[in-house]
Amino acid sequence: MNHDIKTPDIEQIVIIGGGAGGLELATQLGRRWGRKGKAHVTLIDRNNTHLWKPLLHEVAAGSLDAGVDEVNYRGHARRNHFHFILGSVCDLNRDQREVVLAPLVDEDGQTVLAERRVRYDQLVFALGSVTNDFNIPGIDEHCLKLDAPGQAERFHRRLLNAFLRQDRARAAGQDQQLKLVIVGGGATGVELSAELYNSAKVLQDYDLDHIGPEHLQVSLLEAGPRILPALPDRIAGSVITELGKLGVKVRHNTQVVRGHKGALETKDGEMIEGDILVWAAGVRAPNFLKDIAGLESARNNQLMVNETLQTTRDERIWALGDCCACPQPDGSWVPPRAQSAHQMASHILKNLQRQKAGKPMLAYRYKDHGSLISLSRFSTVGSLMGNLTGGSMMIEGRIARLVYISLYRQHQMALHGVTRTLMLALIDRLNHAIRPRLKLH
Ligand SMILES: Cc1cc2nc3c(=O)[nH]c(=O)nc-3n(C[C@H](O)[C@H](O)[C@H](O)COP(=O)(O)OP(=O)(O)OC[C@H]3O[C@@H](n4cnc5c(N)ncnc54)[C@H](O)[C@@H]3O)c2cc1C
Repeated sequence: MNHDIKTPDIEQIVIIGGGAGGLELATQLGRRWGRKGKAHVTLIDRNNTHLWKPLLHEVAAGSLDAGVDEVNYRGHARRNHFHFILGSVCDLNRDQREVVLAPLVDEDGQTVLAERRVRYDQLVFALGSVTNDFNIPGIDEHCLKLDAPGQAERFHRRLLNAFLRQDRARAAGQDQQLKLVIVGGGATGVELSAELYNSAKVLQDYDLDHIGPEHLQVSLLEAGPRILPALPDRIAGSVITELGKLGVKVRHNTQVVRGHKGALETKDGEMIEGDILVWAAGVRAPNFLKDIAGLESARNNQLMVNETLQTTRDERIWALGDCCACPQPDGSWVPPRAQSAHQMASHILKNLQRQKAGKPMLAYRYKDHGSLISLSRFSTVGSLMGNLTGGSMMIEGRIARLVYISLYRQHQMALHGVTRTLMLALIDRLNHAIRPRLKLH
C-alpha cells in the first residue's frame, strides 16, 4: 500500500477534481490555510491542466486555443500553497479514510505509477459530470462528446479535416454539403451549432474558399418539445430565430434510438446522416460514484448532499457541482451549472471555516443569477435575475456578451486575483490582434 501523503498532525483536506468548483476551493483553502500551515490542502485531478468547461465548445470549433487559456495545476498549486496529485480517483475506503487512485498509465500502456492511496480528514468530491448517452446502442462508438479538453481537441481535428475534404471536393466541382448532427438542445448543443457557422465563415479567409457557411448543414436534434427547456420561452424563441438565420435545422420531438457509422436512427425509423455526429444530451456523474463506499447516490450517480453540502451519510465527505444532488426547499434540485459549482465552492469554504471555529454551519441556497447563451460572434441571448432587475430580465447583444464573458472572468478572479485577471484579459486582447481568428491546426 502506497501512501502518497505522509500524515502530519495538521488536518488533511483532499479535493477530488480541479474544475469550475474544485480548483476555486483548493485555491482559496491554500491561500487561507495552506500558506499558514493550518491545513494540508491537496487537489487530485486526472489531467495536468485545467480549462473552464463552458469553453469546450469554443475549443471544439477552433475559436479558442486550449493551450492559451489552460492553467497548469502544479504551477498554480505552488503559487497558492496547496499540493497537487496527478491521478484518477477510482474508489474510496471510508474506514481507513483513504481515496484510491488508479494506476497511472502512459499512452503506450506502460505503468508510470502503481495504485496509490491518499488519506483525508475532510474530503470534497468535485469531479463533475460526463455526457449521458442513456445506454443507447451505438452512441459511444459513433458519436463525439464534449466532456474534456482532449475530446474537444479531437472534435476540432475531425472538423478541420472534414472542412479540408469538402473544400477539395467542391474545388473539383462536386456539389457537397458538410453535415453535422448534434443531439441535445441544451446550452452545449446550441452554442456549438452557432460556433460551427463562425468557423466555416472564418476559414474562408484562410484559403479554404470553396466552402463557406452556406455549405454547412447543422441539424440540432431535441427529444423534447423545444430546445433549452431550462430557459424561459421567450429566450428559447429568440435563440431558435437566430439559429434559423444561421442555417441550423432545429428538430424538436426527435428521439434518437441508435447510433450508426455516419447516421443516427430516430424512434420513427428515420436515418439522419452526418459526416460528424455529436452527442450532447444530458449529464450524469461517473458510474463509479454510484453508492461508492456506502454513500447515498441519486439516480444519475450524483452523491446526495444535505443543505450544508456534506454527504448525507458521512459528514467528513462533501460534494459540490455537477457530481452532487442537492435538494432545495422548494423541492427543486440545484442545476448542474458553472455558477452552482462556483457558489458551492464558496459555501464549503465558509462551512469549513465555521466548523474549525466551532460555529454552526450554514445552509446552502442556490442563487440563480440568470442564464446566457452565446451564439458565437453572431449574438448572445439570456436572462438576468436579481433584485436590481426585479425578477428575470431578458438581455441581448453586447450587454449580454459582456455578462457572458464576465462569468469566466469571475472564475479567473477566484483563481488568480484581480490584477492577474486584468493582465489575462489584456493578453486575450493582444492574442486576438496577433493570432489567427481560428485555431488552424
Ligand atoms: C460545452 C459546455 C458549455 C457549458 N456552458 C455553460 C454555461 O454557459 N454556463 C454554465 O453555468 N455552465 C455551463 N456548462 C456546465 C459547466 O461547465 C459545469 O456545470 C461545471 O463545469 C461543473 O463544475 P464542476 O466543478 O462540478 O466540474 P468540472 O468543471 O467538470 O470539473 C471536474 C474536474 O474533475 C476532474 N475529474 C473527473 N473525474 C475525475 C477522477 N475520477 N479523478 C480525478 N479527477 C477527476 C476533471 O478532470 C475536471 O477537472 C457547460 C458545459 C459544457 C460541456
